[in-house]
Formats: sequence, structure tokens, C-alpha cells
Amino acid sequence: MLSFENTLEFAQKMDNKDPLRTFRNEFIFPDFHKETIRYFTGNSLGLQPKKTSKYINEELNDWGKYGVEGHFMAKRPWFSYHENLTKYTAEVVGANESEVVVTHSLTTNLHLLMVSFYQPEGKRTKILCEEKAFPSDQYALESQIKYHKLPKEHLVEIGPRKGEHLIREKDLLEKIKELGEELALIMIGGVNYYTGQLFDMDKITNAGHAVGAIVGFDLAHAAGNINLKLHDWGVDFAAWCGYKYLNSSPGGVSGIFVHERHENKPELNRFAGWWGHDKESRFLMEPGFKPLKGAEGWQLSNAPVLGMAVHLASLEVFHQAGMENIGKKRDLLTAYLEFIILDISNRNKDKCEFEIITPKDKTKRGAQLSVLSHGKGKELFDKITENGVIADWREPNVIRVAPAPLYNSFEDCWFFGQILENALD
Ligand SMILES: *Cc1c(COP(=O)(O)O)cnc(C)c1O
Repeated sequence: MLSFENTLEFAQKMDNKDPLRTFRNEFIFPDFHKETIRYFTGNSLGLQPKKTSKYINEELNDWGKYGVEGHFMAKRPWFSYHENLTKYTAEVVGANESEVVVTHSLTTNLHLLMVSFYQPEGKRTKILCEEKAFPSDQYALESQIKYHKLPKEHLVEIGPRKGEHLIREKDLLEKIKELGEELALIMIGGVNYYTGQLFDMDKITNAGHAVGAIVGFDLAHAAGNINLKLHDWGVDFAAWCGYKYLNSSPGGVSGIFVHERHENKPELNRFAGWWGHDKESRFLMEPGFKPLKGAEGWQLSNAPVLGMAVHLASLEVFHQAGMENIGKKRDLLTAYLEFIILDISNRNKDKCEFEIITPKDKTKRGAQLSVLSHGKGKELFDKITENGVIADWREPNVIRVAPAPLYNSFEDCWFFGQILENALD
């Protein structure tokens, strides 16, 4: 076990040894602040890769040059633009290429996937989700249940035990068993946005399948953060947004995963659109929807090329860095930040005590620490913000800090600690 030190020299030593250290130069850091910014909100909106504007401009130029002919004549023809993103997307989430596509936005995709994968029938009508799911997911799930004219009790939530912050895996698995043949769908955030808890998606998928349920995940906080193996785990479907760890611009495009066992099932309900239709006959404009095989069949509309270009620029960075390397640095960087926070807490117990509610076990978390500050809360957060830290405040008293392995450094973590400790006075 490496022993960390809360010093600038140690942090710099770690940076020098970091095989991903040069990737920081691929990103634009905000400079609106009077202080140097220490950016820790890659879990909310990732930073802009420097080559983003080049990728957008290429499309703008091709649009100017070719007009509608750009669908076929552009450097990357718009007709099949989404195909440019497929390989790298599959790498990021651990899927076969036919299992993923980039399309629409996250909540839209969750709905489209639930139209196919939540089809309550007979006794099997319930959805299991985590308590205090991200609001958009809650609304999506509630409205799906309402859409099927079922009472709201059919949305079953599993939460932490009283006085605890995290959901015990055992409780979750037991709940799945208990619901048994009433359970139609499990829909859970792979990483909880509030606590940073990472769920064992492999186990949950197996447990769901054992009782005959479909298992889907919202990977908003997991894609580009966790080393996912969606195909091997046998997950039925998943969706994620491109703008958090995947650095693909505010409101940027989303990705979906549909396991290949569902790739060719005409009997699945689906809301259809022309971009999900068979490529060969799409422009014959004939009636009768023939879905494309695989995830592509869930596309409705032709791709928003500018947003896709942004995502392509970012996915290339992920490809170059490699998810394996990103995962290694994530664990080390997060552990270092954890060490710094606890070190400060231990030495300043008279002023304030920090409790990190994110799991200590690195296999149960990603690049986020959710910190409860007993004694001081919002006041402390405002102070660190004033001194250049961009972190994230969630009511009632959690500070979320996410060191993104592609662009955060060990030095950033050390500086975070300095600013935090000074703010205690
Ligand atoms: C960020 C996030 C969303 C956001 O949904 P959009 O449709 O992209 O606005 C939804 N669910 C979860 C779990 C999130 O973390």
C-alpha cells in the first residue's frame, strides 16, 4: 500500500509518474475566476477538449460548402455520422459495436428504452429503483407506470437503512427476490449521483434475471468513469449522457446500449422513427417500419451532427487514453483526495469534521467523493468556491468532489486540501 503525503512535493511526484499526465493539456480550463480554478465537477459537466471547436468547424465548413449534399459528400458523411462514434462508445461501456448507438438525450432514451423493456403483463408489473433516484429518472419511471395505467405503488424503491447513507447490496438483492414474479424491471443508476456509490451491476443483473425481470441501468455517472462490461454482465439495456465524465458539451448527446439478445426482436414495442429503419430502404419513403438490427434500431431522428462532432472529439481522447488506464488513475487520484480530506479532518476536529459518505472500497465507487461537513456546510462551500474550487453543493449538506482522471492532477487534489483547510479558519 502506497503511503500518501499531504505535501506539494508528493503530489508533484505522483503527477510525474502519472502515465496520463499529458492528457490535461488536451482540455480547456475555465479562467473566469480571480483565482486559478481547481475543477472538480467533471461529474456534472466535463471540461471541453481543445479539439472540440475544430470538429465543430469541420461540420460547419462542410455544411457551408456542400449544403444538403454534405449528407454524402462531407468528410464524415452526415447520413451515417453516428457510425463514427460506435467503436469508441463500445470501448467505453464494454459492449459489442452492434449493441450501442449515440442518439437523442438521456431522459428521452430512458423513455424510449422503457417503451420496449417495460411491458407490464399479468402479475409482472413492478419497477424497482433506488430511493432518491435522480429527479429526471423518478419522473420518467413514475410517468411510465402512469402511462400503463398502473397505481404509483408499482414503483418500488430500495433505500439505505435508517441512519445509513448507502444501500446495502444484500438488501437490494433480497428485495429483488422478494418481488420475484411481480418484478418487471429493475432500473437503477449504476453510480448513485448523490453518494457516489457504485452498484455491482453484474450481480444485480443476475439476480434480476433469476426472477425473470429485465435489468436496465442509468449510467449518467458511470459512463467514462467506471470500467463497464455491459455485454459480459448481460445487462438488458442502458443509457447515459455525454456531458458528464464524457466531456461532450452541456446537454450533449446520449448513448444507449441494448444487449445483443434483444437485437432482432420485431415483437418488442418501440416508438419508431425513420433513422431506426432499415438503411437500404430508408429513402424509399415507404410505409411499414423495418427496424435496424441492434441498438441503431432505437434511433428516431437523423443525428444532430454538431453535437455528435463534439462527442466524437471527446471519445477520441478516451480511446487514446484507454479506459483501463483511466480506471487505474481514477482509483489512485480518488484515494489521494480522500486521504487529503481525512487528514485535514483529523487535524481540525475542533473546527469541523468531515465524513465521506462515498464507499471507502475502491470497487464500490468511481471518481467522486461526497463529503458531509459536520459543523459547517454551505458557508464552507462558499468559501472554497471563492478561492477557486469548483465543486458541487447538494442540499442538505453534501459537497460532491470529482477528480476526473483525464484532466485532474494530484496537485489539484493537494490544492483542494489547502483551500479547504484555509476555509476552516
Ligand atoms: C445527469 C443525469 C440525468 C440528466 O438527464 P438529461 O436527460 O440529460 O437532462 C438523468 N439521470 C441521471 C441519473 C443523471 O445523473
